[in-house]
Amino acid sequence: VTGRPHLAIPGPSVTPDAVLRAMHRTSPDIYEGELLDLTATLYPSLKALAGTRHHAAIYLGNGHAAWEAALANTLSRGDRVLVPSFGVFGQGWATVAQGLGLEPVVIESPGAPDPARIESALRADPAIRAVLAVHTDTSTSLRADLATLRAAIDAAGSGALLMADAMASLGCDPFAMDTLGVDVAMAGSQKGLMTPPGLFFLWINDKALAVRGDLVTPTWDWRPRVQPEAFWRRFFGTAPVQHLYGLRAALDLIEAEGLERVWARHDRLARAVWAAADTWGPPLSLGVPDPKNRSRAVTALRLPRATALRAWTRDHTGVTLGVGLAGDPPENHFRIGHMGHVNAHAILGTLSAIGAGLKALGIPHAPGALDAAERIIAAPEPA
Ligand SMILES: *Cc1c(COP(=O)(O)O)cnc(C)c1O
Repeated sequence: VTGRPHLAIPGPSVTPDAVLRAMHRTSPDIYEGELLDLTATLYPSLKALAGTRHHAAIYLGNGHAAWEAALANTLSRGDRVLVPSFGVFGQGWATVAQGLGLEPVVIESPGAPDPARIESALRADPAIRAVLAVHTDTSTSLRADLATLRAAIDAAGSGALLMADAMASLGCDPFAMDTLGVDVAMAGSQKGLMTPPGLFFLWINDKALAVRGDLVTPTWDWRPRVQPEAFWRRFFGTAPVQHLYGLRAALDLIEAEGLERVWARHDRLARAVWAAADTWGPPLSLGVPDPKNRSRAVTALRLPRATALRAWTRDHTGVTLGVGLAGDPPENHFRIGHMGHVNAHAILGTLSAIGAGLKALGIPHAPGALDAAERIIAAPEPA
């Protein structure tokens, strides 16, 4: 389709031109000079973004590697870990734990995790060493309340580390690691951080930094990355040069807008998506019924003809919607990514493309969805 395409999938998200421009350069020296100065500025920005005064480490890799790195630094073969799971990504993290020789205890829930079940599982098994909590599961667009999970760990008198996968939520939904009592947090570069895939970040508090298991390997070891005696130790080899320039540009965008305003923008755009979906009505429905459990970064929707709709919007409007990853079967679902470098015109355009698709394919829907979304966008900013 002629014209600028829009990728409305929940990661990788749209890359801002400022990030692309920042990356369009040949590598400078990696032993001294501007790259080292630039890299030094990233850590304070990353810590502010995650709401921690503790430590941040930058790795080359994707989110799956982040799962492995967090576990490898803290745990030993045979350790039991508790995984509240409400989607594909919770399951995925449990599978990685299993592959490392850990013993994941998975507590599945159709909705947000129930803190009472987490508490009783921890009471029943004091040897559980960590709770692996996905903040937003991108497959279901369900968002967990991390504060209630922290409270459950404390109420059980457990010493388990709380690890949070904030891959889909960081820079979109409010998240503040220290306030939430999260011990290890993780995110990738390609979602709310608006940078091409290839980097992941771990945030580590002092408690987690002091824990050490027998799974740690030189590649995943976070100690030299956090307290390097030479620059190369931050990356255990060559720095991901162009990505670091891109990341700086992305963090500059977030800092210029202000994190609170970034969160408010995501909240408003998410509510516009929900308003449209509620108006269209059956057979289309929102994957998460209760708004308080919904992600502000991604929305999963159920629609029996989702595959046809995605093909239609891609081929006729230039909008690519996300595939369904969870559900019964996943082909009856699709997802709208509204994370990172998005604004009202991107989201209203996406919603309108969906509305046109529903019409073209003869899928029943009520009128007024765009009107409902526009009203959310038009409402005055809260004081
Ligand atoms: C995207 C995502 C991952 C996996 O990241 P990859 O970079 O695809 O490996 C893990 N967890 C969540 C919540 C995600 O959204």
